[in-house]
Amino acid sequence: MIAENLKSINERIANALAKSGRPADGARLLAVSKTFPAEVVKEAYDVGQLCFGENRVQELSEKAPKLPSDITWHLIGHLQQNKVRQALQHAAWIHSVDSSDLFARINRIAAELNVAPRILLEVNVSGEESKFGLKPDDVEKTVADNLGGPASCVGLMTVAPALASEAELHTIFEGLRNLRDKIQSNLKTSLPELSMGMSGDFEIAIAEGATIVRIGSAIFGHR
Ligand SMILES: *Cc1c(COP(=O)(O)O)cnc(C)c1O
Repeated sequence: MIAENLKSINERIANALAKSGRPADGARLLAVSKTFPAEVVKEAYDVGQLCFGENRVQELSEKAPKLPSDITWHLIGHLQQNKVRQALQHAAWIHSVDSSDLFARINRIAAELNVAPRILLEVNVSGEESKFGLKPDDVEKTVADNLGGPASCVGLMTVAPALASEAELHTIFEGLRNLRDKIQSNLKTSLPELSMGMSGDFEIAIAEGATIVRIGSAIFGHR
């Protein structure tokens, strides 16, 4: 089941890339394994999936040690300041950095631990009140304030509202891409990654430039 789902999702990603005239390696699949046990993650690993996303530090810390060490773990859920050290023990990527203070703390602790995590800033593009994420206007300063590593900002991430129409989804994903383009040119820094698109909307995200799609239920089933 999982093997078939992965195959079908990878085909849909390839088709979406081709349809928008993007290179075949233009977007990568992050398999979101939250709530599923290590044995289920291993099934996906065994058919070649190496990147997995978790949204809670506690769950990541319990799952990662039970699985092969060539897996790259991405933290995609809200990160509290007091969980940074634990997160950096397992996560090579953090998609959910939503304040300059948090980014600065990640930099300090990454230096102590001698790791170089990749950071994506989470942006609340749609302005939904219930959401985590930086306001679009605050993103450039957050990038500028935290240049120089060891944690490096490699791009932006957003979660679209669950009930958005196709047209609204295009606008949101395009908005993240345009913000990225503007910051790249203002700061003369490279932000290659756009983490956007989930099970229900990843083809639209790819049409708008997603480089990482975060897909859970379409691979592992309902949570
Ligand atoms: C759960 C989750 C996903 C995956 O959602 P699906 O709809 O199951 O594909 C993607 N991104 C974030 C931040 C999530 O928490």
